[in-house]
Amino acid sequence: MQVLVSNVGSTSLKFKLFSMPEDQVLCEARIERVGSNTAIYQYKNTLTGWSVKQEGLQVRSYAAGIRLFLKDMTDESHGAAQSVSAVKGVGFKTVLAKGYNGVYELEAPVLKAMRDFLFIAPAHNTPYLSAIEEFRNIMPDVSMVGVFETAFHATIPLKHRMYAIPYEWYEKYQVARMGYHGASFSYIAQQSQEDGSYSKVIGCHLGGSCSVCAIKDGRSYDSSFGFSLQSGIPHANRCGDTDAYLIPFLMNEGLSQEEILEGLSKRGGLLGISGVGNDLREVEAAAAEGNERAQLAIDVFVVSVLRYIGSFYVELGGLDKLVFTGGIGENSAHIRARICKALSHIGIILDTKANQDLKGEGYISAAGSAVKVQVIAANEELGVARETYQCICRKKKTGI
Ligand code: ADP
Repeated sequence: MQVLVSNVGSTSLKFKLFSMPEDQVLCEARIERVGSNTAIYQYKNTLTGWSVKQEGLQVRSYAAGIRLFLKDMTDESHGAAQSVSAVKGVGFKTVLAKGYNGVYELEAPVLKAMRDFLFIAPAHNTPYLSAIEEFRNIMPDVSMVGVFETAFHATIPLKHRMYAIPYEWYEKYQVARMGYHGASFSYIAQQSQEDGSYSKVIGCHLGGSCSVCAIKDGRSYDSSFGFSLQSGIPHANRCGDTDAYLIPFLMNEGLSQEEILEGLSKRGGLLGISGVGNDLREVEAAAAEGNERAQLAIDVFVVSVLRYIGSFYVELGGLDKLVFTGGIGENSAHIRARICKALSHIGIILDTKANQDLKGEGYISAAGSAVKVQVIAANEELGVARETYQCICRKKKTGI
């Protein structure tokens, strides 16, 4: 069965067409800078190796990006599907919807629940809603499945989820810690179970969005993400953890609620502290040239990751494996080294050369390290493809 996975970022689109249940990727594509005249488009047919890369493209909308990919996916010479109707399901790595915390067919009530939470996930739910609508227009008879990022975290015990707020807010409004990056961490959990049955794992997904997750016996046990995606460790341009009373304080100082929310969600994180940019590569380059704010941004970022690793180490009662993933986790040897060196007292010994030379994924801990340290390339699409396939099979079985 052919299952297409669409991973929709705030400015990017990634696609993978799978043959399931073999987990085989037939073709894949990514479009960066959606909404601009300078978009970058890459497409590869993984069976034949045929590929194309185009820069400076005009891709004004998500709809335009989706059509661009579907044209190549169904092309006679380099496509991987005979037609769009050969695809039996489209899976989305959806973020959050009020009252939905699992895997669902994207019918009207689920879409409404995503719209109900637009104001706490504007950068994520808005592009997903556009992409889902476009796929519906093009493929009206195909199942659309949302694998919500919060689903993997449903196993987090209530004592880790609960904020110490009036209980009725939890009951009435479901205000509690949620956890995101579920597709990424469920893949790490599966890999860790298959590859040595590690019982106590801490995953660090560090990219444009960043979070740390405690994984116990293959299940999520705690997450640095709280109720919204604005929480946890600092992100590219979102603030991460702050104090709720910052908002009334700044309003009292004369800022409007909109200005404060815009500052926290668009001008915070690495960008906010460094003043240089929201991409760690720019911040690292500026710090290397002596920019003190850039250095401070990196220091705050590392301390925040360590704070969560420390908490989760205690909650798990030890640690078998530390995993890095995401754009920063996979590519910044510097950040990995800073984190691992600060953890030598829990028995982590970094293989400095392996860390520096790493291409792709692999182990970077030294032979005598009490805790294994591994870099795993994020594979969020595979988890979504598996869930989508299972959802379609369940539907077929029950006839619903
Ligand atoms: P997203 O969370 O949006 O999916 P990614 O996981 O692709 O993002 O991570 C993107 C981020 O990874 C970039 O913004 C940049 O900060 C970081 N990054 C990518 N490559 C490198 C690198 N070679 N060195 C340091 N940071 C990098």
